[in-house]
Amino acid sequence: VERRSRRSGGRPISVSFEFFPPKTPEMDATLWASITRLAPLAPKFVSVTYGAGGSTRERTHATVERIVKETRLAPAAHLTCVSAARGEVDDVVRGYWDAGVRHIVALRGDPPGGVGQAYEPHPQGYRTTAELVAGIRRIANFEVSVSAYPERHPESASFDTDLDILAAKVDAGATRAITQCFFDNDLYFRYLDKVRARGIDVPIVPGILPVSNFKQARNFAEKTGTHVPDWLSGRFEGLDADLETRKLIAAAVAAEQVFDLVDRGVTEFHFYTLNRADLVYAVCHLLGIRPPQEVAAGQGNGQAAA
Ligand code: FAD
Repeated sequence: VERRSRRSGGRPISVSFEFFPPKTPEMDATLWASITRLAPLAPKFVSVTYGAGGSTRERTHATVERIVKETRLAPAAHLTCVSAARGEVDDVVRGYWDAGVRHIVALRGDPPGGVGQAYEPHPQGYRTTAELVAGIRRIANFEVSVSAYPERHPESASFDTDLDILAAKVDAGATRAITQCFFDNDLYFRYLDKVRARGIDVPIVPGILPVSNFKQARNFAEKTGTHVPDWLSGRFEGLDADLETRKLIAAAVAAEQVFDLVDRGVTEFHFYTLNRADLVYAVCHLLGIRPPQEVAAGQGNGQAAA
């Protein structure tokens, strides 16, 4: 489905959605309600994260497999190389291919001791993300996406090192990078300039985190080194106990961010949904992304198929 937005000057806009594997039956119900609600927007793909150190290996697989079986969505399975030998990682990759998955988001993963510790590869493991990407591409003809860090990775020695790492991942076969979330669009465009100047030509898709719980988002931003501009804090000032207003502000803030990106030429977005649909659905609607007429007419019938 191709959607053209008036704002984008008629250029097609595409979206993808990220989910995490649920831990409990309640979380499972929330996730599937969200997938059901967002599926008619015909995302390019939906991705499912892989818990730190591979802790959600089975749950990620089960979620991705259910997406293949019960929807017409194209799933992308996240995969890291932390704490696993190559053989184990390769088995997971083959398992995905056999289950009908054709897209992997390949990551190194955080150090097992937590962010801030030195990263030590498993003695028999893939040592870098680029090695993992090459390994996946050797096994089968997967589409492979990777990460990108407009504000540098917390372990980054310099922007140049980061760009070298990204270039190595692309040389190994990655065809898309999805960014860490950011709130200051100027930082994204400055990074994009550096990426293009380095000769990297794959799409650098902005990862958008629509913020409804500002406190939670600020904590997350601190861990990832994401700059929280004063104007953003200001938007949520005094609303800690006022959920209803916060939700309205959240939609306005997210819309402001994506509209500015569209005005400056961006046509592809990856949304960190946190397994919640409403805010992302609203922002997509504002971007001109609508379910096909016949699906819209049948909304609320509980079907997960796109
Ligand atoms: P890379 O891109 O390989 O490296 C990140 C940075 O580390 C480099 O830019 C560089 O600064 C430094 N670095 C790495 N290797 C070297 C080297 N050899 N020499 C010098 N510097 C080096 N984590 C999960 O556990 N599960 C997920 O599902 C998950 N999904 C994610 C999705 C996205 C879109 C993003 C942006 C991140 C995700 N992460 C996930 C987090 C990610 O695993 C961590 O940020 C991790 O610390 C780095 O993994 P990476 O693949 O981004 O690393």
